[in-house]
Amino acid sequence: MGARFPRPMLTQSQLAELLEEQGQPSYRGAQILDWIYKKRARSWEEMSNLPPALRSALAEQYPLRPLTHTLTKGSEDTTRKFLLQLPDQRYIETVLIPASPALYGEKSDRHTLCVSSQVGCAYGCKFCASGLDGFTRNLTAAEIVSQIILAEELSGEKVNNLVFMGMGEPLANFTNLSNALQMVTSDWGLKIGARRITVSTSGLVPQIKKLAELPQQIRLAISLHGPDDVTREKIMPVNKKYPVAELFDALRIWNSKKNQKITLEYILIDGINASPEQAGILAKRARSIRAKVNLIPYNTVEGLPWVRPNDEDCLRFKKVLTNAGVSATLRLEKGHDINAACGQLRLKKEQGTL
Ligand code: SAH
Ligand code: SF4
Repeated sequence: MGARFPRPMLTQSQLAELLEEQGQPSYRGAQILDWIYKKRARSWEEMSNLPPALRSALAEQYPLRPLTHTLTKGSEDTTRKFLLQLPDQRYIETVLIPASPALYGEKSDRHTLCVSSQVGCAYGCKFCASGLDGFTRNLTAAEIVSQIILAEELSGEKVNNLVFMGMGEPLANFTNLSNALQMVTSDWGLKIGARRITVSTSGLVPQIKKLAELPQQIRLAISLHGPDDVTREKIMPVNKKYPVAELFDALRIWNSKKNQKITLEYILIDGINASPEQAGILAKRARSIRAKVNLIPYNTVEGLPWVRPNDEDCLRFKKVLTNAGVSATLRLEKGHDINAACGQLRLKKEQGTL
């Protein structure tokens, strides 16, 4: 099929095309989707209602499981981080976060999975562990979706909330992201409600506009971290390409197409972006697009100089926002202790450990 990386899971239409190429009747598509997404088959061999010849032809070209679990950090009732190996021996991480009321107003039965979209990241934000080693490659749609299937198998829990806040910039991997969104939200797929899916981006303006055109009512989070160009450029090189004003124009377009409030992610870094004046500018910005703000005290990353402000300063920052009528949460970080907080995902590749 010429695929550079195995594509074990396909969208409904890709599968239909493939089966036609193989001269198969179209109802095989529904059978295969059922095996993959509902019965969670681990091998083509299990698909007992398919002709054996078709099974072995597909098995050769499309290994069903592209990810191998190699390590779990964390325990039963806390955040768990799974280290997963890709077919080309690289590693990614996926983080399962138990109920976290501070995050997007979740109820206590929620299980949120924080998935990776790339190996590494090309955007080089100065505070972020994922970008430290640069960009390696995009994940395929199958590799994105497999993180969910595997996390459910490993934990025995149903993932009912999904955030694209692991390693990578999802909007820089747009085609695979949108195929993965189809697999995740469709009735024939994992059937997770689009409203429970959040795509987080550092602010790629053209792709935000493209994402706004997708039919699914997904949520959008923007890694803002600076309310004005001067502050933002200090820590996010992407701002040179897409300055704050342009970004907010794109967010207004998003608002015209989608119903749900945008979330502005804002890491509080001492001496960089956490002053009351900066809070004031952020409040105006947030109000202009009716966004809510998620404040995240900075998580220490080994090798980076930044530190989080003290609790008092964080609370004062939040107060400026709430006084201006902006809904703001000060995020209760989970997983900090195992380096699994989103944005702390980085692999010590040479050891294959976390
Ligand atoms: N590339 C996308 C999605 C992955 S980053 C994006 O940037 O939005 C997921 C989130 O973790 C982002 O909001 C990111 O800014 C944040 N983050 C990165 N490093 C962090 C750190 N050291 N402490 C807290 N949050 C961090
Ligand atoms: Fe990449 Fe997002 Fe980290 Fe920036 S914050 S380096 S865009 S993963």
